[in-house]
Amino acid sequence: MKQANSVLSGYGTTVFEVMSRLAVQHRAINLGQGFPDDRGPDDVLRAAAAAVTDGWNQYPPMMGTPDLRRAVAEHGRRFYGLEVDWQREVMVTSGATEALAACLFGLIEPGDEVVLFEPLYDSYVPIIRRAGGVPRFVSLSPPDWRFTEADLAAAFSPRTKLVLLNDPLNPAAKVFDRAELELVARFVREFDAYAVCDEVYEHIVFDGRPHLSLMSLPGMRERCLKIGSAGKTFSLTGWKVGYVTAAPELLQPVAKAHQFLVFTTPPNLQAAVAYGLSQDDAYFAGLAADMRRRRDRLSAGLASVGFDVLPAQGTYFVVCDIRPLGLDLADDAFCEQIVAEAGVAAIPVGAFYVERPVRHCVRFCFAKQDAVLDGAVERLSAYFGRGG
Ligand code: PMP
Ligand code: GLN
Repeated sequence: MKQANSVLSGYGTTVFEVMSRLAVQHRAINLGQGFPDDRGPDDVLRAAAAAVTDGWNQYPPMMGTPDLRRAVAEHGRRFYGLEVDWQREVMVTSGATEALAACLFGLIEPGDEVVLFEPLYDSYVPIIRRAGGVPRFVSLSPPDWRFTEADLAAAFSPRTKLVLLNDPLNPAAKVFDRAELELVARFVREFDAYAVCDEVYEHIVFDGRPHLSLMSLPGMRERCLKIGSAGKTFSLTGWKVGYVTAAPELLQPVAKAHQFLVFTTPPNLQAAVAYGLSQDDAYFAGLAADMRRRRDRLSAGLASVGFDVLPAQGTYFVVCDIRPLGLDLADDAFCEQIVAEAGVAAIPVGAFYVERPVRHCVRFCFAKQDAVLDGAVERLSAYFGRGG
């Protein structure tokens, strides 16, 4: 048999799928893969149902339905003060995953360098490498996941085509502050590069902290591609509706990739997401408040079990240092052991690294019902013989 593509065939199944399968196999409570376990907002679901039965179910326009593109542009104005031309600067994609792939395939030339912050989401590096790009890593470490000017200076070069920044950062649950973003922006400008901004958790930010979009910083409007996800913003992760906002010159090459990857995204879901994005501010504030409550519930429970629980500023996730529990296992072995023996699934943080893995931390997802979070803490308490 002739060989399949050597870049992609080198990768195993994603850690999220692996841990979810193990959770099913061991009848474990799944706090691994990041997805909420409720139905999602009723009115958004009804809008989708109505669009299926009463609406148009043939191919929508390649760039997305006008309603959703208008809603994304208006969302950019409302939350970030961005002036966005919905016809030339917004494209709807099949999830943020496709938006990322379209940006990377559309912009990278073989040999281009891409600056990445690790820990990082697992789809980035395979797509960059498949596009012929060369990843350059800035490694962030717990507990504060900070980087310095020297770290950026070591990663950027005249060959840097773009930086990929995930903010809020999965799995670190970090929200970058203005000083950090300004430093990134300075390097992007100095090296005449672009920034792909994965902001899927933009509305899941806690404790009154602002989420600043890199795109809203001086000189960055023309250099950034901002990616959002309805899956996260409406707690409907299976929908796979994403959106990219970028200057026309940047969006055009990305649209070239999109037209050959998926071409369009289901129109009924686009209609419901357009409805969802135009809800008043209370919806968005309510989402963050609800997730913060869950974060606090799970964090307190995990602390009582004996984990060193790190601060979670945003996302669905909380990271814990496992060393105080004294098992003397690396993060992956620890996750395999607790899924089988304690009946709780988590994700090893080391899985989000390529170059300098951190092996003493695991990630738990708190976007779950209270009873599920409490059940997981009870199981862990029983297993580790404390708290609860
Ligand atoms: N980026 C990050 C950081 C994520 O956590 C996720 C969640 N799966 C995605 C992108 C993909 O989002 P979507 O489900 O909209 O493709
Ligand atoms: N983004 C989700 C997570 O980090 C999962 C996405 C996936 O399963 N690929 O858990």
